[in-house]
Amino acid sequence: MTYILVINAGSSSLKYQLIDIDEEKIIAKGICERIGIAKSVLCYKPENGEQFEAEKPMKTHEDAIKLVLDVLTDKKIGVIEDMSCISAVGHRVLHGGEKYSAPVLIDDQVLEAIEECIPLGPLHNPANLMGIRGCMAAMPGVPMVAVFDTAWGQTMPKKAYMYALPYEAYTEHKVRRYGFHGTSHRYVSGRAIKKLEALGMKKEDTRVITCHLGNGSSLSAVKGGKCVDTSMGLTPLEGVPMGTRCGSIDPAIMPYLMGRTGMSAQEMDTYMNKKSGMLGLSGVSSDFRDLAAATKAGNERAALARELFCYKVKQYIGAYAASLGGVDAIVLTAGVGENDPFIREMILEGLEYLGMDMDYDYNKSCPRGKEVEISKPTSKVHVYVIPTDEEMTIAHDTAALAL
Ligand code: ADP
Repeated sequence: MTYILVINAGSSSLKYQLIDIDEEKIIAKGICERIGIAKSVLCYKPENGEQFEAEKPMKTHEDAIKLVLDVLTDKKIGVIEDMSCISAVGHRVLHGGEKYSAPVLIDDQVLEAIEECIPLGPLHNPANLMGIRGCMAAMPGVPMVAVFDTAWGQTMPKKAYMYALPYEAYTEHKVRRYGFHGTSHRYVSGRAIKKLEALGMKKEDTRVITCHLGNGSSLSAVKGGKCVDTSMGLTPLEGVPMGTRCGSIDPAIMPYLMGRTGMSAQEMDTYMNKKSGMLGLSGVSSDFRDLAAATKAGNERAALARELFCYKVKQYIGAYAASLGGVDAIVLTAGVGENDPFIREMILEGLEYLGMDMDYDYNKSCPRGKEVEISKPTSKVHVYVIPTDEEMTIAHDTAALAL
């Protein structure tokens, strides 16, 4: 048995999964919350046991990781004998700039590069670094791998990643499209390509559009297994509207609203990232389940939010079909894509001209949590629902580099 610990560190939280990579199984998972704040909580769920939750002091990410190791090795509720059972640690890292187009074994140079990318990921990169340094202190000598969210977008051609701003914005300030959700797009497009290969296609000929639709949402155009375009940009704000993010808007709205309301640049940033999207439009919630309930109860703004979301996703699918010169498969994934058949139908209806023939009854009745095809077997374009698995992908990347 080979165990890999996968860590996703936020500024005050640390999510973890212990994965048996040989069996491709999650052995235990959980989250530490309110790190550095009063009343920190450790949550732990072993594969075959009860969920355990306890208030424990955690001043730093190092304290949190030590508590995670304690509970994983606990005589009563633990799942491993001791820390030496963990062969390697994989860290999700938000921003690797233009330096990393693939996962990398962490050394001093990598730490420096993640630090250099802090201006590009000011909230996430410092948190990711705290997670890495905390693990290094608690688990000396254990190899660690960084898997970057931005790595996937590094294969985009220049015409796709450049903005039509003065060129110096790119050379002097690194302003370009990077794209995010990379691990998810890579995983689900890889699964779709395997299915197309089984149908007789060559990988290099495949044209796939992946739609990661969750609280944050993005799409990616994938040719021959490589990303040729993706909807998020310099930051995760660009692209389709999301739970609380506005997605692409006329950039002149910002100075216009700032002038009229007196909002600062920082306040404008919060307005677009935290108060907009489904939440701002509906005034109800950022959660698609709440929007569905409100729509049913006759709330017109909730209905508008859902319609607008689906319309924008549909437009991106059309745009990416144009970028790819046609499409062989469309993949829907993440919280909304995997669970909301009504949103899927609203997105896909009217796209038949691309060559798809949908089975909307099966779209409604298909099992959740499984890979399914919701287009008819005769459809030229295959439409798949594929549950994303970022942690397992990070564990595989980690094993490939560290073992
Ligand atoms: P994140 O972007 O935070 O990783 P997820 O991929 O977990 O998000 O997606 C979370 C979103 O998925 C929630 O905001 C919710 O709107 C949506 N969601 C989850 N389950 C359902 C469901 N059964 N029906 C509709 N939407 C759902």
